Amino acid sequence: MRYNNNCILCRSSNYSLIHKRGKWNYLRCRRCGLVSIDPAPSPDQLSQSYRHYLPDSDEKIKKWAAMMRPIIVKSARMIESEIPPGRLLDIGSGYGFFLKEMRQRGWGVEGIEISETGRQYTMAEIGASVHSEPLESVAFPSDYFDVVTLFYVIEHLPDPVSTMQEVNRILKPGGLALVRWPHSTPIVRLAGQLSRYFDLYHTPYHLYDFSPLTIKMLFKCAGFLAIKTVIGGYTLPDIRFNRWCSIAAGSLADWICRTTGERVLLPAVSKTTVARKIL
Ligand SMILES: [Zn+2]
Repeated sequence: MRYNNNCILCRSSNYSLIHKRGKWNYLRCRRCGLVSIDPAPSPDQLSQSYRHYLPDSDEKIKKWAAMMRPIIVKSARMIESEIPPGRLLDIGSGYGFFLKEMRQRGWGVEGIEISETGRQYTMAEIGASVHSEPLESVAFPSDYFDVVTLFYVIEHLPDPVSTMQEVNRILKPGGLALVRWPHSTPIVRLAGQLSRYFDLYHTPYHLYDFSPLTIKMLFKCAGFLAIKTVIGGYTLPDIRFNRWCSIAAGSLADWICRTTGERVLLPAVSKTTVARKIL
């Protein structure tokens, strides 16, 4: 039980239970606010599921591409406003939509993807090299990449601190990490009992739920500087009602973020964090 474990960010062991689904509990650290699942599913259980996690029909893949398109374009522009084209790694590259975009923009790209379907698709579409092993097992050289990205991956990692430390190691000094993450806890807490009906944590797949404060702590623990969190666009789901909600919440959040000089980040909508490896 995590109740006996220390928080991965602040080492506290003082938690409150904020959500329950079957045997899974979501605990919030009373000191730093990080939300984590308890008990944690076994790494074997997770890796078996992720092998079949992606949609596999052509129609579903097209819908997925359309849904992710605004995030991909916005993230590409954000990266290019910070750093000239170089070598990029996308961890959890899925069908390679982001790798394809960046290659077209003149970047050298590589991916890591546990799903065989995702790897085959990416290799057939753009011929990019996609590794099947976890980041830690690939053993990239130090100071190797200009940019490392993780889209909707960080919440799935058993040990996000050590993964981000490894990301830091393989980045060149001054290199950029970009992490896109969901921010579900404010809705879960607001909805109370109702939140049991829409499983925002994708139980038991989201092992953590970050906030702007805890994501900053994570980046700091991993040795990053110049940590900046923005809204970074919104997805376009296929279902009309979901799409409308996403556009409305995402546009409002983006507008508030920009007009307050990135000081006010609307809770609950997904966010993008960028940070630099120390020069
Ligand atoms: Zn904590």
